[in-house]
Amino acid sequence: MTYPRKAPPIYVTQPLLPPLEEFIPYLQQIWDSKWLTNNGPFHQQLEHALCDYLGVKQLALFTSGTVALITAMQALRIAGEVITTPYSFVATAHSLLWNGIKPVFVDIDPITLNLDPAKIEAAITPQTTAILPVHCYGHPCDTDRIQTIADNYGLKVIYDAAHAFGVQSRGGSVLNHGDLSVLSFHATKVFNTFEGGAIVCHDAKTKQHIDHLKNFGFVDEVTVVAPGINGKMSEINAAFGLLQLKGIDEAIQKRKAIDARYREALAGVKGIHCLTGTDEKVANYAYFPILVQEDYPLHRDALYQKLHDNGIHARRYFYPLISDFPMYRGMPSAVHSNLPVARKVAEQVICLPIFPALGSEDGDNIISLVAHN
Ligand SMILES: *Cc1c(COP(=O)(O)O)cnc(C)c1O
Repeated sequence: MTYPRKAPPIYVTQPLLPPLEEFIPYLQQIWDSKWLTNNGPFHQQLEHALCDYLGVKQLALFTSGTVALITAMQALRIAGEVITTPYSFVATAHSLLWNGIKPVFVDIDPITLNLDPAKIEAAITPQTTAILPVHCYGHPCDTDRIQTIADNYGLKVIYDAAHAFGVQSRGGSVLNHGDLSVLSFHATKVFNTFEGGAIVCHDAKTKQHIDHLKNFGFVDEVTVVAPGINGKMSEINAAFGLLQLKGIDEAIQKRKAIDARYREALAGVKGIHCLTGTDEKVANYAYFPILVQEDYPLHRDALYQKLHDNGIHARRYFYPLISDFPMYRGMPSAVHSNLPVARKVAEQVICLPIFPALGSEDGDNIISLVAHN
């Protein structure tokens, strides 16, 4: 028998927030300068600080990950068809529809839950112009195999790296693969600026083009070179990002400890599989996904409900699949038989709460709810 928790509910994540008083001096500077947006001093500083921290050459800040994804497609003039994963947050495929691009869904690898490189080639047609993989849960894609396919067929690669802040694979930052990588700094992500995002690219010329696109296409006062958008991050968000960055290593260490605790405690639980990355030298512990398999006493949704009834708001990321939403489900690649692995995983997954402030007592409570049935 379980009892309803009296304590406040625990959500799958809780945003990292530094002490408010530490933010006041930044606000004072903005009030003094009256420079609120349009590549202000905090915006410039945060771009440099993130390039340093992440180990990337060029980075352009945005208002959100979604606007950054949409702009990334514009920057490379992607059209026609793009191969992508159904197992992601819906913004991945939406960024294609917003550009009039047709998503072509390809199934995922059963171990990493990332786009399965072995299934990409069969989905390529004369209309294919790019591949849009996701480093799901911050676990790196098989970037070598994806690049080989892209090179052979003359395709661009844009990584949705919304989960992959700070992640390094054997070759260094995972963000240095492909033509562009897109980050999200939404409140729910490992590193947040309330709302925000970025495009990572390799050279100054591409960064300049992206900077034009995010500012209506303006090059100077009288020259507009493209039908750009307003994707600029404000000084408030950028200043907050600079303050966040100071605490990010500690925050990731705390996530790491929670990850280790869950992993150890759940290792012996029959029917519970804890996902792991296969290629991380440095991980970010953004999520703690488990698969509730056939030999677990409860169905996934029953466990989800049980957690919920006990004040634990775990989430079924990613269920439903993107390809099951109304604007996608009529597409040929969305058919049931094309995506067997993604379908199965979407029926089994639960992401357990993981965030720096999660207390050990709450962690133990979650473990015991999962472990004892
Ligand atoms: C969060 C997320 C996005 C969207 O980012 P926003 O900053 O919320 O617009 C895109 N893709 C994935 C995989 C995400 O998790």
